[in-house]
Amino acid sequence: MNERYSRQILFPEIGRAGQEKLLNSRVLLVGCGALGAAHAEMLARAGVGKLRIVDRDFVEFTNLQRQTLFKESDAAERLPKAVAAKTRIGEINSEIEVEAIVADVNNSNVESLIDGCDLVLDGTDNFHVRYLLNDACVKHAKTWIYGAAVSSYGTTMTIIPGETPCLRCIFDEMPDAGSSPTCDTAGVIMPIIATVSATQVAEALKILVGDTKSLHRSLMQFDVWANDRQRIKLGEPNPDCKTCGERVFEFLDAETQEFSAVLCGRDAVQIAPPKPTVIDLAGLATRLGSFGDVKQNEYLVRLSVDGHEVTIFADGRAIVNGTDDISAARSLYSRYVGN
Ligand SMILES: [Zn+2]
Repeated sequence: MNERYSRQILFPEIGRAGQEKLLNSRVLLVGCGALGAAHAEMLARAGVGKLRIVDRDFVEFTNLQRQTLFKESDAAERLPKAVAAKTRIGEINSEIEVEAIVADVNNSNVESLIDGCDLVLDGTDNFHVRYLLNDACVKHAKTWIYGAAVSSYGTTMTIIPGETPCLRCIFDEMPDAGSSPTCDTAGVIMPIIATVSATQVAEALKILVGDTKSLHRSLMQFDVWANDRQRIKLGEPNPDCKTCGERVFEFLDAETQEFSAVLCGRDAVQIAPPKPTVIDLAGLATRLGSFGDVKQNEYLVRLSVDGHEVTIFADGRAIVNGTDDISAARSLYSRYVGN
């Protein structure tokens, strides 16, 4: 083993055997925004051998204040976050493997995304995906680490299905849309991202090296501005929990999935195609040329028209900037992309 990991190997809780386990592990990172970028960088530097990074979005200038893997040129080129993260991680640690997946996580792909992974880290910005992840991870007995941050506060808990309470044991109902503050309405500062992501990654390392007795087994809450920390000890899973008690997977088994979503931290809406599709980006760029300013890279086409920016990915998804109105975004989508 090379000297890259020598200081971590000196840490007895990891040691040489633990380092070997890290190198042989695969972790799924769901979301590569602020939390996800921090997870990716820490796990890559720690020598976790395989990272699967899934993100639906591209880099913007408003991300650079807190999303540590990205740089100005990524935002200027509108690179998908998963792709920009893979490139940057390759410069940090070329000895590990990174799979970059530009996709929305939904009930049609979540089970295949977690398949083959030893652990799942939550770096998403919305509750719907978290409840979906909880369903999939409980169903397949996969450990996952919930994390969220907004403004100056954040929270995290580690979920080992069958052993600890799951997300739904603690938060029975998903908060109503619009009821919780988001990065969009309340902003977010970097130190809370660092605090929550560091706690999540410490838990990840404990799990990957097999030191489960050191897990915090709590709902951890932090406010780095109000100087507040709370640790609420968690007991057993709730036997009446719909997900881990009754094993009813409402989000995973939903007949329809949400095709549209207002994106956190953005004046933007995502529209997804109702069925899987592959877009010919070059053909689309040519077709859209007469409607407005069109830019294209290997991963997406961007059309600027009527004060909106419509960014279309190869999987048929589009992100419409300049609105938080789903029906306005849908109508732009059908006008320029079809369906
Ligand atoms: Zn539960």
